[in-house]
Amino acid sequence: MTKKFLSLILLISLISLLAGCSFAQKETYKIKNPSLEAGFAQKLSGSFENLSYDIKFPCFNNQAIDEFLSKQITQKVRDFVSSSSNGKKELYGEYQTFLYGDGNISIQMQYLLKDTAAKTQNETAQTFVFNENKPVSASSVFKRNKIDAAIEAIKNAILSNSEYKADFLKKSDSLQNSIDSLENFVFTNDSVIFFYDKNTILPEKYGVVSVKVSKDSLQECFAGSSPKPFSGKTSGAKEAIEQGRPIIALTFDDGPMEGTTNLILDELEKHDAHATFFVCGNQAKHYPALLKRQIDLGCEIGNHTYSHPALTSLNAEKMKEQISKTNEIVSQATGVTPSLVRPPYGSINQAVKNNLKARFILWDLDTLDWKTRSTEATIKAVLDGASDGQIVLMHDIHDPTAKAAKKIIPELIDRGFYLATVSEMFEAKGYFLEEGKAYNHAN
Ligand code: ZN
Repeated sequence: MTKKFLSLILLISLISLLAGCSFAQKETYKIKNPSLEAGFAQKLSGSFENLSYDIKFPCFNNQAIDEFLSKQITQKVRDFVSSSSNGKKELYGEYQTFLYGDGNISIQMQYLLKDTAAKTQNETAQTFVFNENKPVSASSVFKRNKIDAAIEAIKNAILSNSEYKADFLKKSDSLQNSIDSLENFVFTNDSVIFFYDKNTILPEKYGVVSVKVSKDSLQECFAGSSPKPFSGKTSGAKEAIEQGRPIIALTFDDGPMEGTTNLILDELEKHDAHATFFVCGNQAKHYPALLKRQIDLGCEIGNHTYSHPALTSLNAEKMKEQISKTNEIVSQATGVTPSLVRPPYGSINQAVKNNLKARFILWDLDTLDWKTRSTEATIKAVLDGASDGQIVLMHDIHDPTAKAAKKIIPELIDRGFYLATVSEMFEAKGYFLEEGKAYNHAN
């Protein structure tokens, strides 16, 4: 174990020393008909004990993109090296690149994992999409309330492929109505190509499956923040930044609750404003329609655990259960799986970060609304403290807070603020939220 970690540290320091790119030397695993529209290959290979890896990935001589990719590939290798193995394990990686629009780039990584002890050969896909040098994800590109329409377009594309059709009809329910089904995608100028791991939506013999869907048939599914070639428009939050307006993310925890949450949603709807609701599973399970309303209004739902324990007091298994149960409830009700976690009491440590590998959202303006239970005090806390890039903590289960929101929302807008969800704010400000990290604000 120690040897593994020592080698790992060496590997990581080696990667950070990589100033330029080197060309790949030997061919070990190849994607069929790769599309290589930009960049050139660099390679990361090595072996420790009975593990070996050999991964090619592209380099573009673009610092922002190259650094981001290096980090992601290093993480992939790090996970592989620290995985357990009873026999020999080999990891191979290949890639293809796609250009779209005015110099934007998408990358598909494809991995082959051979495990001799388990006698398995898994093939998986991973994609990275950059818009103006910044990574974007499915949850920012596709409208949350149009996921079913996107899945429908993908199904139609599969069914129009004579090679896939018969086999897909046998397992067509394997393509779930969730953002996870859209996770791996790349852009070309006229289409979006989605990728699915081996033996997920089609039988094993097809390997990783790619499904090309015309951009026209997905038109209604793109969010305002979709990459340039699609909309030519920027998101409301990005527009606000261009106009020099401050952005703020109001967040509400511990709900949803029938009366109070609806009051806040009414006010948000009236002003076409967004907020983020960090829900508890044991509340959320009673109110599927409320969750649906939050998503339909363009708000974001985050995970605030199932029963509100301090995550730091739980073992890894219990921790994961707290998150997965709530994800399941939200995804059942809305088709959207939360991508952010707010730890109850803001209680977080390295074990929580390592075990959950989530994107943790804390706050930098605490209204103390749960303590004061005063409409006036909550209004004052927000209006006195509001600033650009801030995450404001409130609780939508308290009546005084709901009443305060009716004043806070229009007043902030009057003062020039753009009210965004947490994800919208970070995306618009050019931050990529990383798994295993905690964020207090977008500054
Ligand atoms: Zn809470």
